[in-house]
Amino acid sequence: MRPTGKLHLGHLVGALESWVALQQEYNNYHLIADYHALTTNLDSSGIYRNSIDMAIDWLAAGIDPVRSPVFRQSQVKEHTELHLIFSMLITAARLERNPAVKDQVRDLHIENVTYGHLGYPVLQAADILLYKGNLVPVGEDQVPHVEIAREIARRFNNQYGTVFPEPEPKLTKFARLPGLDGKRMSKSVGNTILLSDSPDVIKARMRTAVTDPQKMRRNDPGRPEICLVYEYQRKFNPAASEDIEAGCRSGALGCVECKGRAAEAIIAALGPFRERRAHYEEHPHEVLDILKDGEGRAREKAEDTMTGVRAVMQFG
Ligand code: SF4
Repeated sequence: MRPTGKLHLGHLVGALESWVALQQEYNNYHLIADYHALTTNLDSSGIYRNSIDMAIDWLAAGIDPVRSPVFRQSQVKEHTELHLIFSMLITAARLERNPAVKDQVRDLHIENVTYGHLGYPVLQAADILLYKGNLVPVGEDQVPHVEIAREIARRFNNQYGTVFPEPEPKLTKFARLPGLDGKRMSKSVGNTILLSDSPDVIKARMRTAVTDPQKMRRNDPGRPEICLVYEYQRKFNPAASEDIEAGCRSGALGCVECKGRAAEAIIAALGPFRERRAHYEEHPHEVLDILKDGEGRAREKAEDTMTGVRAVMQFG
């Protein structure tokens, strides 16, 4: 995950919950992709702070750093070495066909795509294959990147000798949680609830959520199936969601009350998260120690992989 600072509810539902579940079953590697942050923004001044904030959110969400190393990409130099080798194994035309880059160019109004931006799936392939990852937990939109990693692994193995597995995408279980305006939840759009928001902020943010436009007055019947607040209810208040649905349809439940109940459910669900987050914020050295430990363990695995790579390529 690229370090964009404090995470929001969409990250929790779309990624963190699934990572926490997966760590029971798999050997996970949790990479803070800090070099990747440069692909769309050259200003590096916020990357360190954003990386720490993101690590705190991961830990507070239940990522166990003893089971699964948590580390920054920039602290394991082998990422850049493997990226260089992999960049010889894919054509520029193949990268230009990547739909994610096309979307970013359009959404961010980028006039001239840099070499690094175009090649970021190659760096991602190095991120995955350096640890011989065989499963990559991703949303649908990231599947083309895993396909590029598979192609590169295949090409390398055919050319030099088998070193890498062909990684498979592991689709995350939950649908994306919409933002408070009904669009994709994104910090840059300002339609989020951050995991670190206080209960008062969560209540205030929830009051801004859009609802069914046909439910103008409290007693008007509503359509929960098109209302994002109802989606939040189903996720964070599942036991009450049938009652809420019936109340909305009949007009017995008003949107103000419904939003208040959704906010309370989110506040309750984030309670343990808030406590763990406060602990790490008060003990920043623990976070730095966790990163140092994770970076050491990641480096060991990365060095081992690169020894194999150099051997089959007859370097050194
Ligand atoms: S009552 Fe709740 S579910 Fe129904 S439209 Fe209002 S906010 Fe949405």
